[in-house]
Amino acid sequence: MAQQTNQYNLPRRISNTVKRKIRKQCGFGCVVCGFGITQYEHIIPEWHEARKHNPKNMALLCGSCHDKVTRGIFSKDKIRDALRSPKCLENGYTSDIFDIGKSTPTVKIGNTVWEDVPIILQIEDIPILEIRRSRENKGTFEISALFCDDNGEEIFKITNNIWEGNITNWDIETIGQTITIRKNLRKIALEITIDPNNGIIAINKLHMNFRGATIFGDQKNGFYAKASDESQISIGSGGGVKSFDIGVLVLKDSVAMGIVSKITKHRS
Ligand SMILES: [Zn+2]
Repeated sequence: MAQQTNQYNLPRRISNTVKRKIRKQCGFGCVVCGFGITQYEHIIPEWHEARKHNPKNMALLCGSCHDKVTRGIFSKDKIRDALRSPKCLENGYTSDIFDIGKSTPTVKIGNTVWEDVPIILQIEDIPILEIRRSRENKGTFEISALFCDDNGEEIFKITNNIWEGNITNWDIETIGQTITIRKNLRKIALEITIDPNNGIIAINKLHMNFRGATIFGDQKNGFYAKASDESQISIGSGGGVKSFDIGVLVLKDSVAMGIVSKITKHRS
């Protein structure tokens, strides 16, 4: 087993508060390239020489950039420079790529499984969550999505499998296959898990507002879609929904589930 504390008795494990500070100062992505799937790294001193987990000497690095540091291809100076002006703060967002595999993906919202439904969620004429076969890459699927917070501010979007999270978010955390976006310490705006080996995209938590429509819920309390006139339906209470053009359609004065329709304006 790997050593759990160093010579100064500093544990390998970093507290959540320190991790959050590091994520925030780095703009939630790799300080060098901006990729969003990252690890926490001691720059100088390295962990085995460090007396504490000091965010000032620590950075987020993606697997690839971390590997280059380990193999001496990237200097420690380069990482320190990058920490002074992290890529994501320059760009205004962090981004990475989803791989959703080759089998037809299914989407899970709460306990409901959506299969062969290209547009899972649509508000008025805008698709919010869609999965389509790739035009360029035959046999693969592409997910596109637009998530807002409860004030209608865009917090996370996916365009043909490339995701982008705004650095104006209070927090974006990636652990394994799960991405969590928080509005504050206890308020999660979006939690999404992508499991490419089983072809599952799961929305575990969501609280969004878009054009007066609200989509909200979590595993415990169920998921709902609500129109601006307050009409509301449960969209995650169980079972399967299969082979429709649109899974859930929210209009100004109604919400419907399971639709075959032509009103969709495709985002390009
Ligand atoms: Zn990187």
